Amino acid sequence: MPQPLVLVVEDDPMLRDLTRRQLTKLGYEAVLVGSGEEALDHDHSHIGLILMDIGLPGIDGAYATMLIREKELRNQRKRVPIVALTGHSDAQTAFSVGMDDFLQKPALMADLKRVLDKFLT
Ligand SMILES: [Mg+2]
Repeated sequence: MPQPLVLVVEDDPMLRDLTRRQLTKLGYEAVLVGSGEEALDHDHSHIGLILMDIGLPGIDGAYATMLIREKELRNQRKRVPIVALTGHSDAQTAFSVGMDDFLQKPALMADLKRVLDKFLT
């Protein structure tokens, strides 16, 4: 069975690439976007998990998460796990907007593996 896709929302191209390489090493395929708007517009039907930066140009990751949750409810879609991957915000903010977990960036491989195992197996 193919591994579910991980949607990476990160505006910094270097961090985006780092996360993609980490995911590849752990056996996951990544879809990369650079903004909250793109994350919201993306078709989530094949996405197993979203790694969401908080500090983004335009709508930030917290607001993007709220909009994604609203859209899921409106369209009666399954709730995709969203994990904050950020240097800026705190866990409390992440949980209060409907995120499922929180990682400090850059994430250690072991921590990334822990959340992938938690939400994708
Ligand atoms: Mg950022």
